[in-house]
Amino acid sequence: MKEVRTRFAPSPTGYLHLGGLRTALYTYLYARRNGGKFILRIEDTDQEREVAGAVDMIYQSMHLAGLTYDEGPDVGGDYGPYIQSDRKAIYQEYAWKLVEKGAAYPCFCTKERLDEARKAAEAKGETFKYDKHCLHIPLEEAKKRIAAGEPYVIRQNIPTEGKCGFDDVLFGHIEVDCATLDDNVLMKADGLPTYNFANVVDDHLMAISHVMRGTEYLSSSPKYDLLYDAFGWEKPVYVHLPVVMKDQTRKLSKRYGDPSFEDLLHQGYLRDAIINFIALLGWSPRNDREFFTLSELEQIFDLEGLNKSPAIFDVNKLRWMNGEYVRKLPFEEYYKLALPWFEKAGVGHVDTRRLAELMQGRTEVFGDIPEMVHFLAEMPEFDNELYTHKKMKTDPAVAKQALTMIKPVLEGIDEWTETNIHDVVMAAVAESGMKNGQVLWPLRIAISGLANTPGGAFEIAYLLGKGETLKRLNQSMEKL
Ligand code: GLU
Repeated sequence: MKEVRTRFAPSPTGYLHLGGLRTALYTYLYARRNGGKFILRIEDTDQEREVAGAVDMIYQSMHLAGLTYDEGPDVGGDYGPYIQSDRKAIYQEYAWKLVEKGAAYPCFCTKERLDEARKAAEAKGETFKYDKHCLHIPLEEAKKRIAAGEPYVIRQNIPTEGKCGFDDVLFGHIEVDCATLDDNVLMKADGLPTYNFANVVDDHLMAISHVMRGTEYLSSSPKYDLLYDAFGWEKPVYVHLPVVMKDQTRKLSKRYGDPSFEDLLHQGYLRDAIINFIALLGWSPRNDREFFTLSELEQIFDLEGLNKSPAIFDVNKLRWMNGEYVRKLPFEEYYKLALPWFEKAGVGHVDTRRLAELMQGRTEVFGDIPEMVHFLAEMPEFDNELYTHKKMKTDPAVAKQALTMIKPVLEGIDEWTETNIHDVVMAAVAESGMKNGQVLWPLRIAISGLANTPGGAFEIAYLLGKGETLKRLNQSMEKL
């Protein structure tokens, strides 16, 4: 069998969106599974869309995602250059080969002429198709005009009849009438190729065996096959991947503020959880298993498990999955990752290790941490009704009684450890004849201002320290 060589070919237009990450991941996994090579190619021929710094962002994203490529602009390889703008001369050479074969031709039509023809087509309710106006210019004449400096493009000469088609692993045989296809531009007036041309030349010259990309290229692929035929080149295996949807009707898109891979990392999702989740957006191992490391995926990923229907990006499922990963982190790892979020919340001064122990089981996404722990830095406003709890048999009146009883007890504790607070408070409660909940619930509310907190009254009192606990207790009692 031919060596498997796959490529991820992003355009440098910004952060890696999740659909792109999925393509990159599947492309990577397929190469690894088959002992092949994974290549990164930068498709920067549409310079108007290019965003400054985006190429570096792509390297960075691939690195963050753990998708190591064997060949690419920054790592080299035998099939370079791997940035399309560095391959200008190659495209020129191959475009002219097509011209010589009659499969392409130079076109000198002005923008005005094309705009007019487009308008006329639209007025008739038709889609504009180039009318092969320049096809009949003899090649010698065309070359003279080019030499004289006249601007031109090179167009693909699509047959006017017959069928053209190709085979896709997921979508089967796709065939269209050639007459429906347009003589697309292969080389632009700026001397750069269009995607339509560059992808074919590069995939061939880079010996790509399997082309994986989004279904948006499904409809143009018959045209690419005509190019392969014109050159007499062997075609790659095509796998067009269905889009990733936000919901039933909308595509996931950064234009609508949907997160990129980097956004998710910044929000405090774990790389491994994101990769695991993305792997399952359109692929399944055909059993119930849900958790996979990247290296496990490298062993089992296959084309048979791909799904033809669009996948839906369910952020709640990602949150859940992330939470599962967070819980399984070794404590030290969790602590290291949580600490910056504690600091961000202004609670870096408390016993953060203890706080981390209390938080690990409750953290779904690290970005949730500040909101959950900020009360330790600043006492929130709260309504006295929060003291009311049926099951605990408390209300503001009971709370007043409980807090009045417990305050001097807390004041008497010298060594402010969690165990001491626990033992001393529990003894006082037992002596008072009140129920545990009647004291502990109001105490926790009085010092946290929240119905839900990581840890109970003892843990929070400990984290706040004696001074702050008593200060909050006094303030809350004044309000009662
Ligand atoms: N540059 C194209 C894109 O970013 C890649 C398409 C392909 O993989 O062939 O969508």
